[in-house]
Formats: sequence, C-alpha cells, structure tokens
Amino acid sequence: CCDTSTQEMSAQENRVMALSEWEDRWQAGKTGFHRSEVHNLLESNLDKVVCGRNEVRFFFPLCGKAIDMKWLADMGHTVVGVEISEKGIKQFFAEQNLAFNEEPVPAIPGAKVFKSTDGTISIYQCDLYKFSSTVGGKFGGIWDRGALVAINPCDRQKYATLLMSLMNNDCRYLVDTLEYNPELYKGPPFFVSEEDVKNVFGGGCDIELLESVDAFEKKHKSWGLDSLTEKMYLLTPKAQ
Ligand code: SAH
Repeated sequence: CCDTSTQEMSAQENRVMALSEWEDRWQAGKTGFHRSEVHNLLESNLDKVVCGRNEVRFFFPLCGKAIDMKWLADMGHTVVGVEISEKGIKQFFAEQNLAFNEEPVPAIPGAKVFKSTDGTISIYQCDLYKFSSTVGGKFGGIWDRGALVAINPCDRQKYATLLMSLMNNDCRYLVDTLEYNPELYKGPPFFVSEEDVKNVFGGGCDIELLESVDAFEKKHKSWGLDSLTEKMYLLTPKAQ
C-alpha cells in the first residue's frame, strides 16, 4: 500500500518523444533546458568527477549546446558529445567562438562529427543509440545532465547499457536527476527516482548519492508542479 513508485512511474513510462520533436524544439528556439552558466552541481562536484586526474576524456550524452563542455575543455580536459540537432551543435561552436571542422563518420551512415580546430571538443551529430566505444573510444568522466531524464523512459536500460560500455575502469560518471510528481507533468524532463537509477545501472556500477537540492523555480509552476528535487549521483564501475 505504501509503494507509490510503481504508480508514479506508470504515469510516464509510455511517453515517447520522437527525434524529430527534439529537432522541432531547436528550430523553434524552445530550448528552455539550456543554461547560460556552468551547472552549479557540476561545479560543486567537479573534484568528485575529476578526482585529481589531468586531461580526463569526458563524455556528454545528449549534450545540446551545454557551456559545461567549454568549461571543462578550458581546464585541459577533452570532451566528446553526442547530439541529434545540427542546429544546436552549430550554435554551440558559434556561441563559444570556437572554429570547427565537419567530417562524416564512416562507421555511422548519415552521421557527422564537428570538431573544434584545437582538437579539444568533438560533437557527433547522430542518434545516441548509434554511438559506441568503437566509434568514440572509452571515457574517464561522464557528465549526464538533461540526458537520462530526457530519453524515453522505455529506453532506460538500453541507455544505461550503452553508457556503461563507454566507461573506462577509472571512469567517474555524474548523473543529474529530477524528482517531482509525474502525475502533474508529462515530461521531458522525466521523473527519475533513485530506484530507477539502481534498476538500470546497479548491475554494473556502484551508486552514491552526492547531493539532493530543492531546484524548484518559477517555470516549474507553469509546468503544474509545486516542488522539484534535483539529485546528483556518482556512478563508478564495480570492481571486477
Ligand atoms: N544536456 C543538454 C541538453 C539537454 S536536452 C543540456 O543540459 O543543456 C536533451 C538534448 O538531447 C536535446 O538537445 C535533444 O536534441 C537531444 N537528443 C534527444 N534524444 C536524442 C538522441 N536519441 N540522440 C541524440 N540526441 C538526442
């Protein structure tokens, strides 16, 4: 009688966003998820993800035009992102004043990779599920903001399996999730509980809750919500 999580999950589990709907959002300038500042929870947990290492290779799933990519690159790390919207990718390079080259990706028909000429940031323009370690190698850090919460709920295990296949043994993966009443707002971003994170990543990763913050803002009121909690987890590969 007390298990509300099953009930809450069912409110969103069948919701599906087509890739074309994301592109439509970019075309219409409906990118309210974009932040003009470095993400506060990345900043406050930077030490936990970098962990004293230099030149970490970071992966940004569903990167949009997150300025966090430039912020990490400026510290000497390298960044690989995947984003379906070419418009979003081009806006990133323009807004960050970065010159770039554009190349096809032979292993993924139709895909392109946009690389900053200084070689620090590469963004693959393709469906995330077409990306793999064969194409992009493995990573020492992952920043997942607006990604696990943005993918279709029915794809979570597929997503987690892919992300885990991109992790080096020393990889530290920060994932940012949102909790709110999913009966009130259909998403995206979708509601992701600690249980959900454990269900899909628990087989391969140790999971630590790093921060839980009240992230309710005015815009969430217009979504019909009256509370919203942001939770940050650190995922590390289980010792083999
Ligand atoms: N992480 C970014 C963007 C979050 S919004 C940020 O925090 O600002 C989610 C982004 O994922 C959108 O830009 C959308 O175009 C992209 N996207 C959604 N599904 C995708 C998929 N299957 N493959 C690649 N990109 C996708």
